[in-house]
Amino acid sequence: MHYSEIKTYDIANGLGVRTTLFVSGCRNRCKGCFQPETWDFHNGKIFDENVWEEILDSMVPDYIQGLTLLGGDPFEEENQKDLLPFMREMKRRFPDVEDAKKKKHRCKNVWAFTGYMLEDLLPGGKKHTEDTDELLSYVDILVDGPFVKELKNLTLKFRGSENQRLIDMNEYRRSGKIVTVLGS
Ligand code: SF4
Repeated sequence: MHYSEIKTYDIANGLGVRTTLFVSGCRNRCKGCFQPETWDFHNGKIFDENVWEEILDSMVPDYIQGLTLLGGDPFEEENQKDLLPFMREMKRRFPDVEDAKKKKHRCKNVWAFTGYMLEDLLPGGKKHTEDTDELLSYVDILVDGPFVKELKNLTLKFRGSENQRLIDMNEYRRSGKIVTVLGS
């Protein structure tokens, strides 16, 4: 996999201060896409273990709330395959923590943006692969859906067009219901 950019101390792509990884490669080709250079799967640099370290090191301070996966599209099949081992390592370094009531909490949360719908990523969906269930299990907020120019709205938080949803994936795992957050 290639990546186009890493943004550290990012406050634009999820709640709190985060590290954001822009992977390369996207087949959605949304009209009006704000970064068409990332459609090319070979844009940018190779995502190797040195890059893993750079990202993981940047997440160490307590004030870094988490990691955002952006693109391109992290859920293109080949990107899922290469992101999965990295995400396993991220969870190994930043495991969930247990409170006094034995409730588990994320040490660092994960946001992921995709031009596909959650339904496309579920078993039977067109983007579901052998890697998808585990990769999705690490995601707390999924921002899904293509960017639709006609529905563009500059006042929206963390999304470009009104059709896109900010889905609480922990709630989805708990109840099986799609619950959107932050007014989406
Ligand atoms: S999914 Fe994102 S990166 Fe891909 S074409 Fe749409 S807006 Fe651009």
